[in-house]
Amino acid sequence: MSPRQSDANPGPRSAAAANQPLKRATITQTARKYLLSESGGHCQNPVCRRDLHAIVDGDLVAERAHIIPASTGGPRGDHEPQMDELDRADADNILLLCPTCHTMIDRAPNDFPVELLRDWKRISQDARAAAFGTPTFDSRDEARAYIARLLDANAQVFRAYGPIEGSHDEDRAWLWKDLVKRTIIPNNATIVAFLQANRHLLGADEIALLSQFELHAQQLADRHLNGNWAAATLRFPDGFDKMLEDPQ
Ligand SMILES: [Zn+2]
Repeated sequence: MSPRQSDANPGPRSAAAANQPLKRATITQTARKYLLSESGGHCQNPVCRRDLHAIVDGDLVAERAHIIPASTGGPRGDHEPQMDELDRADADNILLLCPTCHTMIDRAPNDFPVELLRDWKRISQDARAAAFGTPTFDSRDEARAYIARLLDANAQVFRAYGPIEGSHDEDRAWLWKDLVKRTIIPNNATIVAFLQANRHLLGADEIALLSQFELHAQQLADRHLNGNWAAATLRFPDGFDKMLEDPQ
């Protein structure tokens, strides 16, 4: 994604404009926010990764470093001389670095060429996706190992505190409601997102089970988070705890 910033984007430079010196375009607030999110607030040099959340003189210590410089006279300026000033100020062309790494790459541009800096950006994006995104796997065994801990955690809560037909224990009921909100509902959301992202590993019967589970999870959340106790809810579908267990 490229959060192209300008409201008035003049498009690629004309041949005549290419001979004029570049105006230095400002890095917009949108691009600044995007970079902070992309980097997770850590220096995008993969061997540094310094936390940039320290505030000095009212601003973060993060610095914005151009890969292709803002003007052709800057470090790495011989690369892509036709690039216009707005593309140079685009978040795609900027790394968020600590002050030390920013100085280092601009003082020795031959040691830190464009290709290397673009790799840093990609590595940083991958690291964020791995930390916060939903992982996908190529094998059922790996996927099973991932969801097993979530299913087990939910099963343990249910065994210890779940409702027992024909009996009512006030303390147990209170703990159950508390743990449904804190453990079961968030785990269910992760399980659904994970299985949707890994649908390529599921058999037809498992896809049908997943649909039932989604409905069950939605209704459970509706009862416990929205207080909608009137509607009857679908029970945890039989066999869902064995999801991805058998070889297909
Ligand atoms: Zn750094």
